[in-house]
Amino acid sequence: ELVTVKRALLSVSDKTGLIDFARALSQKGIELVSTGGTCKAIAEAGIAVTDVSEVTGFPEIMDGRVKTLHPKVHGGLLAIRDDAEHALAMEEHGIERIDLLVVNLYPFEETAASGADAATVIENIDIGGPAMIRAGAKNHAYVSVVVDPADYANVLEALDAHDGKMPLEARRKLAAKAFARTGAYDAAVSGWFAQELDDVTPDYRAFGGKLAEVMRYGENPHQKAGFYKTGEARPGVSTARQLQGKQLSYNNINDTDAAFELVSEFDPARTPAVAIIKHANPCGVAEGASLADAYRKALACDPVSAFGGIVALNGKLDEEAAAEIVKIFTEVIIAPDADEAAIAMVAKKKNLRLLLTGGMADPRSSGVFFKSVSGGLLVQSRDNGNIDDVELKVVTKRAPSAQELADLKFAFRVAKHVKSNAIVYVKDGATVGVGAGQMSRVDSARIAARKALDAAEAAGLAEPLTKGCVVASDAFFPFADGLLSAAEAGATAVIQPGGSMRDDEVIAAADEAGLAMVMTGMRHFRH
Ligand code: 5GP
Repeated sequence: ELVTVKRALLSVSDKTGLIDFARALSQKGIELVSTGGTCKAIAEAGIAVTDVSEVTGFPEIMDGRVKTLHPKVHGGLLAIRDDAEHALAMEEHGIERIDLLVVNLYPFEETAASGADAATVIENIDIGGPAMIRAGAKNHAYVSVVVDPADYANVLEALDAHDGKMPLEARRKLAAKAFARTGAYDAAVSGWFAQELDDVTPDYRAFGGKLAEVMRYGENPHQKAGFYKTGEARPGVSTARQLQGKQLSYNNINDTDAAFELVSEFDPARTPAVAIIKHANPCGVAEGASLADAYRKALACDPVSAFGGIVALNGKLDEEAAAEIVKIFTEVIIAPDADEAAIAMVAKKKNLRLLLTGGMADPRSSGVFFKSVSGGLLVQSRDNGNIDDVELKVVTKRAPSAQELADLKFAFRVAKHVKSNAIVYVKDGATVGVGAGQMSRVDSARIAARKALDAAEAAGLAEPLTKGCVVASDAFFPFADGLLSAAEAGATAVIQPGGSMRDDEVIAAADEAGLAMVMTGMRHFRH
């Protein structure tokens, strides 16, 4: 597992920390080999170093385009030390092993960003550097590859700690970083070309995505867009089979993803569930005796907004459910599967897209989430928090009834998929009011109540659906006002993360209003 470092090859454009590092390596008795400029800098500091041309027996040619691309270098990096044939080849051709490779690349990114002319930018595409990095990283069983001056100190520490040897774990980590660097480097090169060619889509291949589809336009008609797929096998919009209807637009893909991710929170083994999505927010989610029943209940929450929505189901689409869905204009249906009669029913609506995923997405599985900001990307792990895995704390005098508790969990499950500030009213396994994306929590509570009133009026009901409902908040109530607004709307029980400075005030207000309240300790911000 430990590999003795006897010989190092150094070839760096960014010479930060080079001399100190080279000196420390040399003092450990490690032989140094280096390329032109790097070699000169090390030699000038009075440190013993061999020029790579002496090793290869070949001069650097073509302005440095060819300096390390030689079997004496690549054989030394790639040889499997324990392999008899490899050892024989080394002996036969006078190839010496390279145990430590220190390379950082021609400054392509900086040169491209400086607005230099094309010839200069292209000259700054490093060829030999990435080749060596990849060779050494592939052979990390024997070779340590350092691509970042920030790692010099760690390498020296590891060598000190292990008597001049590098441990396998360190070599593996360095290899991962090495390939990340060459991947990002090539992505920068292709990104520059895309820009030069005024390519239709931005390039995010560096983050593991592959351009799968070019859309007619982005969120708005004057924006260009593409769908990059990461290859993650998660059932959903990126892996689904589209049975009919025209190509999904950028907004369709975004909304369909939101719809299926939400409905995947509901275990099909427990109960059929349906989510209707508009602009990435749910305008109705419900469980039911059947998918058709769940759809009817989901639709009742906000029938006005559901027009032109995306419908996601957690079970095989059947004819009864399909017949309900096609009654109003719907953009997309996404489900794990569909039976023949349902497919025939949907086929009557030519423009309605039907997507079949083959399964549900696991809401607990980990994954990566990207969001672009000006000049960068924010990366976080997927919100895979699950209400079934947290211990709920009853904080009020009254504990929720069994029915309230079931609805509270349902509401919190939905709130996870509502843009913050999220307030979700639920009754009997169906949302009855959703307040999304407001800058104040009390506004979300009021809007959700207002929507419930509208829905009741549309259905010709005497009182709003929120009478006797429960309420979920995606984050704590900072003041009692939001909670009181929910109580006024008719909520009898509350679920929220807790953790506000004024929790005591909010709990006292809940007690006074006779509410039952549970705290999750888990927040579901979604922006
Ligand atoms: P130096 O300053 O030592 O002359 O050059 C160091 C740079 O050359 C490093 O950035 C390294 O990645 C790059 N390099 C090393 N070998 C080759 C090669 O064979 N071809 C090209 N194009 N670049 C190389």
